[in-house]
Amino acid sequence: MEDTIVAMATAMGETSIHVLRLSGSNAETIIGECFVPQNMERWSRRDNYTLNLGVFRDESRVLDEVLIGRMLAPSSYTGEDVYEINCHGGTFVAQRILQACIRHGAQLAEPGEFSKRAFLNGKMDLVQAEAVIDLISSRTETSSNLALTQLRGGLSESIVSLRERVLEILAFIEAGIDFPEDDVETLDRETLSMRVNMALEDTGQLLAGSKTGKILRDGLLTVIVGRPNVGKSSLLNALLNEERAIVTDIPGTTRDEIRESVSVGGILLKLVDTAGICESKDLVERIGIERTWRALQTAELILLVVDANLALTKDEIYILNNYKDKVIVIVNKIDLLENERVFLEFNEIKWIPFSVLQHQGFEDLEVEIKRKVFQGEVVLASDPLISNVRQISSLERCDNALKQALESIKLGMPWDILSIDLREALQYVSEITGHNVQESLLEDIFSRFCIGK
Ligand code: GDP
Repeated sequence: MEDTIVAMATAMGETSIHVLRLSGSNAETIIGECFVPQNMERWSRRDNYTLNLGVFRDESRVLDEVLIGRMLAPSSYTGEDVYEINCHGGTFVAQRILQACIRHGAQLAEPGEFSKRAFLNGKMDLVQAEAVIDLISSRTETSSNLALTQLRGGLSESIVSLRERVLEILAFIEAGIDFPEDDVETLDRETLSMRVNMALEDTGQLLAGSKTGKILRDGLLTVIVGRPNVGKSSLLNALLNEERAIVTDIPGTTRDEIRESVSVGGILLKLVDTAGICESKDLVERIGIERTWRALQTAELILLVVDANLALTKDEIYILNNYKDKVIVIVNKIDLLENERVFLEFNEIKWIPFSVLQHQGFEDLEVEIKRKVFQGEVVLASDPLISNVRQISSLERCDNALKQALESIKLGMPWDILSIDLREALQYVSEITGHNVQESLLEDIFSRFCIGK
């Protein structure tokens, strides 16, 4: 008999209610031993998706009055019989119920074990499972929409169809190995390259969207630079006040480097602390300073704040010339301008006339950030974008294997060599959804979940 698992699904502490989750073939027996429903007749009908009031007891002691949700196999999150016990929100009460379940035969669940069972029972693939983590940890509307699209299978569909394409090519090659007649060979090779090219179009499209997907999920590492007094702090404070979705704690990033995070137009800007970056008179000389250099180098977005009333400095020109791909220039204090001034846009860098004080320019900044992120294309978080580093890396490997196959076809390599390239492509695309994965990878993925999920 497989293990029945139990865990608190809510965070420890005093709250209004706690929820415990029980899943496995023995769940019904355990609940049967501990739960006394108020409406026995209805409970005995075993109606699926019902909430049932009653008392939870261990031996003869009543532990709490509870509401139990019943979701029977296979129509549950894990695909097994699942019971969700809603009890009163004291940690003590919940712990006693948890212990009672364990005494009656359940095992304490590992982190992510419910989701792992859902995966193993075919309720969702790995892309969807990883979307569950992303949804829980998402901090902006766009990143949660993206995770939701992935959870609902939007992305999985694209990956599955790519996988089918690769499988078809592989079948075609295997047929070629079986019937290697010379005159058929030439024609077949043409068809073959055409098919591989079609698969490459798919990987190319998915990879093109992955940059945006990753930004929507993880945010943009952003540096605000400018000479002293130009309005950097004012801008930062204005952005922070402006947006409700302020985030301070970002996993996976060095804490002391990230000063603040703010969502602008649904895109998370992770502001890197570069205090003092332009405090020196001569940045060009100071650029040797490791930290400053690194901040500008590693930034994905640089907001260069300049003063509308002053000529550009050497430092500012240096930044404009060296980081043109990721700079947005904020020409601040336009409210102080005496005459209309035209800001020449050079190096294809966007200059935004701005006045933090008079609240001008914020909309343009938002539009420009979005334009940079979406590279001029209209991409919605509801599009099936690949965003997770593991998935992107497998897709890149699949793409490389397909390119290698194309090369081998051109070089007239024998069919069995082509088959090796295609098998490799198949392996990588299968890894994404979990059609073919190693146990260690599964452990790694599901250990990132919280307990009870
Ligand atoms: P920082 O040194 O770059 O961080 O600059 P601050 O944000 O501390 O701003 C320096 C001064 O400029 C403050 O007195 C601000 O009130 C003022 N300031 C900031 N933005 C504007 C603006 O758009 N217009 C005007 N007139 N003053 C501004």
